[in-house]
Amino acid sequence: MGSAVTGAWHHRAMTVWAVLALGFAAAFVAAMVAAARGRSTKFVGSLAGLIALACGWVWWSDARMEARLSQAASAVAGVQVHVDCQELFFGEWMPTRGAGRVDARDDGSMDDVAHLDRKICTAAASWPEDDTDDAYTAVHVLTHEAGHVRGEANEAATECWAVQNSARVAEALGASRPRSERRAQWYLRAVFPRMSSTYRGDGCTISGS
Ligand SMILES: [Zn+2]
Repeated sequence: MGSAVTGAWHHRAMTVWAVLALGFAAAFVAAMVAAARGRSTKFVGSLAGLIALACGWVWWSDARMEARLSQAASAVAGVQVHVDCQELFFGEWMPTRGAGRVDARDDGSMDDVAHLDRKICTAAASWPEDDTDDAYTAVHVLTHEAGHVRGEANEAATECWAVQNSARVAEALGASRPRSERRAQWYLRAVFPRMSSTYRGDGCTISGS
C-alpha cells in the first residue's frame, strides 16, 4: 500500500491480452481472405478466430472489472480514480510490492492511477456477493489507494481516511448501508490494530461509533 516513484507496472491502455486478441483477429481475417481465394487456410483461420475471442474476453472482463472498481472509488474519493488491476498471467510475472500502490509524480503530487494486485482486484470485485473478510479487506485496500489519489501521501492519514470511507465504497459496489458499516467496524476492530505503526495514526475512529 506504499507509494513509490517508479513502478514495474504502469497504466497500460493496451494490455497484452488486447494485443493478442487483435493479433489473432488479424490472423483470422488474413486466413479467411486467403481461404476465399482458394487456399486451404480455413482451419487455421478458425483456430485464430477462437483464440482471438478467448483473449478478447479476458481483456473485456478485466476492463469491466476495472471500470466498476474505478467508478465506486471515484464516487467516494470525489476525484477520478483509475484502477489498474494487475493483468491476468502476464502481469502476474511482474513483481508486486504489497496489495496496491499509487505512484508519486515528479512534482510530488499523487498520480491518478491506483495499481492493485490481481488478488485484491478479484476479491474487491467479488464484493458484495462474497461477504467475506478477504472481500471486504480488498474493498478497504481499494479505498486506501483512492485516498492516495485524492492527494494524500502519508500512510497513517490515508489509512484512517480509508477506515472512515471504506463503507461508502462498499455501498457504491452494491452492498446495503448497514452491512457496509458493520464491515467497516469489523475492519477497524480486527485488522487495523494489526497494521504496522506506519499505517496507524493515533485515535483513528469511525464517527458515530
Ligand atoms: Zn498507502
